[in-house]
Amino acid sequence: MSARAGIVVTGTEVLTGRIADRNGPWLAERLLELGVELAHITICGDRPGDLAAQLRFLAAEGVDLIITSGGLGPTADDLTVATVAEFCGRELVLDPELEARIADIVARVMARFPNVDADAVRAANRKQALIPAGAHVLEPVGTAPGVVVPGTPTVVVLPGPPRELQPMWRAAVATPAVQQAIAGRTRYRQDTVRMFGLPESALAATLRDAEVQIAGFERLEITTCVRRGEVEMVTRYEPDSAAVYAELLTLVRQRHGGEIFSEDGTTVDEQVAALLAGRRVATAESCTGGLLAARLTEIPGSSGYVCGSVVAYANDAKTAVLDVDPALVAAHGAVSEPVVAAMADGALRRFSADTAVAISGVAGPGGGTPDKPVGTVCFCVRLAEGPTVVRTLRLPGDRADVRERSTTVALHLLREVLSRPS
Ligand code: ATP
Ligand code: MG
Repeated sequence: MSARAGIVVTGTEVLTGRIADRNGPWLAERLLELGVELAHITICGDRPGDLAAQLRFLAAEGVDLIITSGGLGPTADDLTVATVAEFCGRELVLDPELEARIADIVARVMARFPNVDADAVRAANRKQALIPAGAHVLEPVGTAPGVVVPGTPTVVVLPGPPRELQPMWRAAVATPAVQQAIAGRTRYRQDTVRMFGLPESALAATLRDAEVQIAGFERLEITTCVRRGEVEMVTRYEPDSAAVYAELLTLVRQRHGGEIFSEDGTTVDEQVAALLAGRRVATAESCTGGLLAARLTEIPGSSGYVCGSVVAYANDAKTAVLDVDPALVAAHGAVSEPVVAAMADGALRRFSADTAVAISGVAGPGGGTPDKPVGTVCFCVRLAEGPTVVRTLRLPGDRADVRERSTTVALHLLREVLSRPS
């Protein structure tokens, strides 16, 4: 038994790349958690014909469930419900109680816009109360209701704004129609191992050996992916294959124990956050322009330990704000270990912190020199009570890659220093 699903993301703004799709990936995660196999995510603009074609395609592929996002608003280009109704062979019928509930919501919103024509608003809002006959209504989170249309496949119609879609998906999953559509789902386990400083090819070689050595290896569904210089190995398996996964983990530990930093799915950000508890951290950043501080402050609870950040790009800014000796810059260059160490020192003092991280590098596109080409980045982690660690790396990729990788390297360095036995 299995259950398969497809997702149709609608919206010309998504199709054209003006906004990045957040609903497809979010729904994909939820389906994975449920043990529903995701066959396709398709994207179309706000044209009913294109949406209908994608619905037909997914139905022809035999999926049990289709989820659509977007196009539920009151305006004329919001045609998803009508298109889905036609696809499912159901009439659109007015749900008067739903209309009244939407009118209530709209009245509250409209109280803030006294000049808007109330009749026009009522007409638009009536359109949102047209529901495919026999469909289950998902109560609006914004103003637009969603619907679940039972059938083969069952179709779940959700609004586009992620903050509306997410709670409505949870309501949709609880409906009998969706439960029935995904009845064949398999409950998988999923484990994630993260490594840093390991080329993906080395892990690939280990997995090739595992295939030969480990009985039942084919029962594991392994995906490896490289992100920000980290290698992530995600393994899905049915509960009765747990012993096979344990064997794989043993082999991966034997080969790459030094590079594994997480076996429980935690990210380096989360680990650093735990290590920083009770400390006060400051950053001094040049080429990363505050990205490290941004990443540190994204971690829940970070207001407890992040003091602040200095972004100092120009040399005289490094001197003025971080007290970097101009002679040091003149002698070694701004991208150098002595300067990055002085930046860390400056951040430590400026914020009365006990932990400081500094980054100075050449992120490009222009600006490198033969001995310090684009991608050369110096890092320093400095603790008030002791060790200062300084490192220089050559990072691959374009400007965005170098900047993002730099923040990851800095977090790993911080993790390494903070987890040393004192
Ligand atoms: P509304 O009542 O707001 O019109 P809707 O269901 O019609 O809701 P859309 O018109 O498709 O939704 O999208 C409204 C807004 O929601 C978009 O402009 C965009 O900001 C956001 N949005 C829609 N789809 C996505 C998506 N896939 N990923 C991220 N944001 C999205
Ligand atoms: Mg809309």
